[in-house]
Amino acid sequence: MIPRYLVDIDLDSIPHIHTDVIVIGAGIAGLFTAIKASETKKVLMITKKSLLDSNTRYAQGGIAAVISDEDSPEYHMQDTLIAGAGLCGHEAVDVLVHEGPDGVQDLIRMGTQFDLENGVFALTKEGAHSQRRILHAHGDATGAEIVRALSERTKQDPNIEIWDDHFVIDLITQDGECCGALVQKPNGQRVYVHGDATILCSGGAGQLFRYTTNPDIATGDGIAIAYRAGAEIQDVEFIQFHPTALFYPGAPRFLISEAVRGEGAFLRNIKGERFMERYHPQLELAPRDVVARAIVSEIENTKSTFVYIDITHETEELIKHRFPTIYEYCLNYGLDMTTDWIPVAPAAHYMMGGVKTDLYGETAIKRLFACGEVSSTGVHGANRLASNSLSEAIVFGRRIIERIRDLPPSTVKPNLHMEAQRNDISMQAIVEKRIKLQKIMLRYVGLVRNGQGLKRGYEELARQLPLYDTHLTKREEYEFANLLNCAILTAKAALQREESRGGHYREDFPERDDLEWKKHIVFRLGEDRAEEWIQNG
Ligand SMILES: Cc1cc2nc3c(=O)[nH]c(=O)nc-3n(C[C@H](O)[C@H](O)[C@H](O)COP(=O)(O)OP(=O)(O)OC[C@H]3O[C@@H](n4cnc5c(N)ncnc54)[C@H](O)[C@@H]3O)c2cc1C
Repeated sequence: MIPRYLVDIDLDSIPHIHTDVIVIGAGIAGLFTAIKASETKKVLMITKKSLLDSNTRYAQGGIAAVISDEDSPEYHMQDTLIAGAGLCGHEAVDVLVHEGPDGVQDLIRMGTQFDLENGVFALTKEGAHSQRRILHAHGDATGAEIVRALSERTKQDPNIEIWDDHFVIDLITQDGECCGALVQKPNGQRVYVHGDATILCSGGAGQLFRYTTNPDIATGDGIAIAYRAGAEIQDVEFIQFHPTALFYPGAPRFLISEAVRGEGAFLRNIKGERFMERYHPQLELAPRDVVARAIVSEIENTKSTFVYIDITHETEELIKHRFPTIYEYCLNYGLDMTTDWIPVAPAAHYMMGGVKTDLYGETAIKRLFACGEVSSTGVHGANRLASNSLSEAIVFGRRIIERIRDLPPSTVKPNLHMEAQRNDISMQAIVEKRIKLQKIMLRYVGLVRNGQGLKRGYEELARQLPLYDTHLTKREEYEFANLLNCAILTAKAALQREESRGGHYREDFPERDDLEWKKHIVFRLGEDRAEEWIQNG
């Protein structure tokens, strides 16, 4: 059984620290909410590695917002709803498309420099967008620019204290209210940080899979931490696999951005044939799940392990100017985008679901908010429209701060003393278990699923549950415990959902079934630790 707390706790025997707002994470969601909150509050921002270790830093393509006169919130809404395959929350999408431009202005005020063309924002188009509405920076280094600007700003802000290399193990709750977090310092000492509001900005869970575009911090900690605390976890069966990650011996699964296809690149199988016309009228710019499955199908049909992305028909100047990072990265492996087709294959990229929130980022637990990839605001539905995630973080980040501004101080005083019988576990065992989990997920809970495989995958994952009876002390151990929790929820939801929709494809139920399944699967642990699952229409 998944326990309430991962470790033994005696709050009386560890140091207590108070701050107004606790921000867990330092990607776009964490940095942005910390800066906004610091206008009126004292903020403690906690991150388990450095300020440079986040999914945000790797974001290439850009950030979607209605900027151009030729675009409109209605077009953006329409594109988002189509990608979301019937499961987007209409109100949440409405908020995103109308408030995105204000969020972008905030980012600019915080120091972000987006690319300009003839004095106006250079806007590009990505898969499934009907208009040019993607702002970018340094060509294809949008995330790095946002992290640069916002982290410089946080470091100068007297109201923001930054704890890097600190690990949040669990949230401390009492009477349905979040009182703060249990944090492990780099020297192993544990501290109870008490806050009037806690904002989870801990990112995604790409490390569930053996092949992923996500860095190693993406271990789903926030989802597991919130689940253990009693929050609602929604839509976790919907995983977006990015169709085009570099597939080259010895190279990590580096992302070849959607924007490369947006600028006109073709996909070709190993025989050199363009194939997307067999799969979707939007060809290479079809929704990501369609492109990813088309690639898998071509890989299988040609008995290969990859396909090619080909942008050699564009000018050298455009390629180098628009994609300097991707161009240089490929060149390191002897691949020249201006003359070579680049081998690519799908890799796990983004989790659409997460901790369920309302339109102000608040979760089912009082004083606990979730922002960015860890949250499930309803914006993405069953599939995320490219470049909507950076916008979601700033739009709902603004709203969270609005809600927090008038929050009265918390008066709840938790009195926790929990001790359990625990066995020891070795680091070697943890490393092996993590690799095994990633293989199980790829094999049974990956891009193409079926009932038999999901059941098998779920059973194999469930065999790891005794881990929760062991004595965990290190970051890697907590991370594995969190990954296991996320993996089990994902497999369980994928098994329950007997249809195909967005980022969830079942070969035994290949059709979308609106009659039975136009609803969300939401998990929540009750007071008695028994899991409840709810379907929300
Ligand atoms: C290669 C790549 C390219 C992408 N390109 C785009 C794009 O062009 N446009 C777009 O909109 N989206 C893109 N995305 C998705 C987007 O980057 C992410 O969804 C977004 O950046 C997530 O931001 P975040 O702040 O929620 O999380 P992250 O940026 O992942 O930050 C998470 C933070 O939480 C911290 N953390 C996690 N757990 C703990 C813990 N237990 N204790 C303490 N700290 C913790 C981490 O250390 C980190 O600081 C891309 C993603 C990838 C991987």
